[in-house]
Amino acid sequence: MSKSDDSVSQLREEQKRILVTGGAGFLGSHLCELLLGAGHQVICVDNFSTGVRRNVDHLKRFDAFSVIAHDIVQPIDLEVDEIYNLACPASPPHYQADPIHTTKTCVLGSLKLLELAARYGARIFQASTSEVYGDANIHPQVESYWGNVNPFGPRSCYDEGKRCAETLFFDFHKRHDVEIKVVRIFNTYGPRMRPDDGRVVSNFIVQALKGDDITIYGDGSQTRSFCFVNDLVDGFVRLMASAPSVTGPVNLGNPDEFSIGELAEQVIGLTGSRSKIVYRPLPTDDPRQRRPDITLATRELGWRPNVSLSEGLKETIRYFDGLLTRSAGQVLE
Ligand code: NAD
Ligand code: UDP
Repeated sequence: MSKSDDSVSQLREEQKRILVTGGAGFLGSHLCELLLGAGHQVICVDNFSTGVRRNVDHLKRFDAFSVIAHDIVQPIDLEVDEIYNLACPASPPHYQADPIHTTKTCVLGSLKLLELAARYGARIFQASTSEVYGDANIHPQVESYWGNVNPFGPRSCYDEGKRCAETLFFDFHKRHDVEIKVVRIFNTYGPRMRPDDGRVVSNFIVQALKGDDITIYGDGSQTRSFCFVNDLVDGFVRLMASAPSVTGPVNLGNPDEFSIGELAEQVIGLTGSRSKIVYRPLPTDDPRQRRPDITLATRELGWRPNVSLSEGLKETIRYFDGLLTRSAGQVLE
């Protein structure tokens, strides 16, 4: 058994009181499920801006699960052992809809939660992002790369907000001995994304299932590396259970890189759709290439993703197919 396996099984033995902010969102709901399954007490805090109650309804059967409607920009006082800070809209159309609130969520939200962690001696995890690398000049991206980010473009509220959040995490660690875990997440997809999320995988699948045009922004040669959600949240728990010296930042993502054109072809193939591909303007500051270097995650956490893009897409297509059938194309709340 590896050192990281030891840490994971130890986590299973001790019941902890864990706060998950953004717990009703796509990633947060999968994380709550994993933590409850491991026997922990989980408090989901969410302002339901992009998250939906439906994502966590099935968890209400656990006595150890509770949900609090709250915006993390405002302080909250809960005595907990661990905090996973996932609260923040992640899709470009959603985080750009109210950019000032996005910056506040990243910066003020992190500050309030770090103060909470310092007060109760809680270990705190930050969902940072590959967006801190911006339109990266080095490829694949390693954690030591400082990034190439526009400070006042349409993506800046998110990119710079997440960069500032990392700064706060490391300064609380240095000044107040707060135990921190910072993960830089690369594009992740799977069941419980919203049909109107706006990110590429959900857009393409929903368009293909409805027989609508598949919208490629730009010429489709830009690349991304897509990680299936179950792989990702396994990495979260491993990082949280790692030794205090493992602070991150650590990349988590699937290093298999695809062009957006290739993704569209795969989705069309797997759904058997007759949708046609159409080309739309590339958004401002859209990164050209993205692929994580996961050497650090593999060495420190014994982590690497197991689910291939085609397997993950099949499961995600099944999810959206069921959702669209049930809702007859309406967005469910
Ligand atoms: P999501 O939009 O599905 O979930 C975000 C959740 O946070 C939602 O439930 C939303 O209602 C909640 N929220 C937003 N602002 C809030 C606030 N001020 N107070 C309380 N709750 C708030 O997005 P996701 O894909 O699940 O992303 C979760 C986290 O992971 C985000 O912090 C995001 O930046 C990060 N991340 C995700 C990806 C990805 O590919 N999914 C990649 C990089 C980073
Ligand atoms: N994209 C696309 N069509 C869509 C949605 C997105 O071609 O309907 C492109 C987008 O321009 C980007 C890539 O797909 O190049 C990934 O976009 P997403 O919003 O999923 O994530 P991010 O840009 O934050 O990595």
